[in-house]
Amino acid sequence: MKIAIDGHSSCGKSTLAKQLAKHFGFTYIDTGAMYRTVTLYSMRNGLIKNGSIDETALQSKISGIKVGFKKDGHATLDGEDIEREIRSLDVSKNVSKVAALKFVRKEMVTLQRKMSQDSSVVMDGRDIGTVVFPDAELKIFVTARDEVRAQRRYDELKAKGEQTTFQTVLENLRQRDFLDTTRDVDPLIKADDAILLDNSDMTLEQQFDVARKLVTDRME
Ligand code: C5P
Repeated sequence: MKIAIDGHSSCGKSTLAKQLAKHFGFTYIDTGAMYRTVTLYSMRNGLIKNGSIDETALQSKISGIKVGFKKDGHATLDGEDIEREIRSLDVSKNVSKVAALKFVRKEMVTLQRKMSQDSSVVMDGRDIGTVVFPDAELKIFVTARDEVRAQRRYDELKAKGEQTTFQTVLENLRQRDFLDTTRDVDPLIKADDAILLDNSDMTLEQQFDVARKLVTDRME
């Protein structure tokens, strides 16, 4: 079974996807982490300078970038655990530009399909229901009001000790939503057969309950 969870930035997609994967014993794949890993690689190797990407250099390297996950779900770059680094605001500022590149998406989508070959999966991202698994048994499109999303992400970053302001976080997520929904290649868009879940006024438990019932219905 394939469950596709798409939606806007910082709307709690990955929390929901992880809960579902744990509950049903499915594999969880965080595709955002994969685009973040490619972005971190580019930043570390001087392929992004002042927000501008050396596309030719990145294209020549892309197939050799070792994007992966550890058993505990942490993202890895060439085997190194880079989970913490990829969540920084620096990476968040650049990731949507990297994710808009056709050759980057092609490589990641191929990898995502490969990772899902042998088991049931819950995959979260922006193009899972539209591009990666258009035939997924269940598609959920998650969203929430942008101030609500920014507050959640701000609280998360603050708890990790990152120095930032609510306004900076809000601007970053609006910018990412804009880039993700307006890019030419595989933009963020709700698949016609996806179920819309606005969790602005829901607790995590309420959201999980709704989604769990949807999965159970599809399984039956
Ligand atoms: O999900 P997360 O916020 O970590 O994703 C980071 C960025 O990666 C998104 O803002 C988006 O630009 C990109 N992304 C994408 N397609 C996916 C997953 C993420 O373009 N399937």
